[in-house]
Amino acid sequence: MKKTNKIIIAIDGFSSTGKSTLAKHIAKKLEYIYVDTGAMYRAVSLYAMQNNLISKNSFLKDTLISKLPNIELEFKYNEKLGFAEMFLNGENVENKIRSIEVSNMVSKVAAVSEVREKLVEQQQKMGRKKGVVMDGRDIGTVVFPDAELKIFMLATADKRAKRRFKEMTDDGKNISYQAVLKNVTQRDFIDTTRKDSPLIMAEDAIAIDNSDLNVNETFNKVYTYVKQRINLNK
Ligand code: C5P
Repeated sequence: MKKTNKIIIAIDGFSSTGKSTLAKHIAKKLEYIYVDTGAMYRAVSLYAMQNNLISKNSFLKDTLISKLPNIELEFKYNEKLGFAEMFLNGENVENKIRSIEVSNMVSKVAAVSEVREKLVEQQQKMGRKKGVVMDGRDIGTVVFPDAELKIFMLATADKRAKRRFKEMTDDGKNISYQAVLKNVTQRDFIDTTRKDSPLIMAEDAIAIDNSDLNVNETFNKVYTYVKQRINLNK
């Protein structure tokens, strides 16, 4: 591939719109680093759950804030899988952070400003040298407001829940479609209404509704913009 100037690609949007699939695909094609920022919020939530700081009815927010210096997050590239897995204090938690239990807590944890501050700082460090595709909720608005390309992904709640349900059941998880739909709509609500860094589309982002697009169609559409931004001809 012809050498080009490296850029930052920010992919934000609603839960289960295929952001990470798209981001991984683009990163692979461009030989960029892919960063799944949702995994970082999920890992902090898992830490809070493991230390009994959060449950369905309670949240010891101040204790979590005081424990933040004890939480070490690291991405380690897994050659076999072709992406980086999340490690929490040295333990590979890639599987645990994808459970419905963590999904049900993560938006509450992600609404805490002190948590966001810590994670945003790490994310900005990872993008210092550019050549990064980062997906999340606030990448184009807060983490990299100057990103050269910003994509904002959306799709109907029903389509998103169906995709997520299929993914989870294919993965052997025992879950109902209704539980997945409820999780998706609850996270939409918390993520869009929180005070700190709510999920909103950056003014200069390109909206992609993939309710009726498959993975390849979504990729092809977005890759047209990628090529424009980095002057690639292929
Ligand atoms: O992307 P994923 O669905 O794994 O993200 C899990 C949750 O983490 C989101 O629902 C949101 O509450 C939070 N998040 C965030 N900011 C990001 C990435 C994720 O608030 N940049």
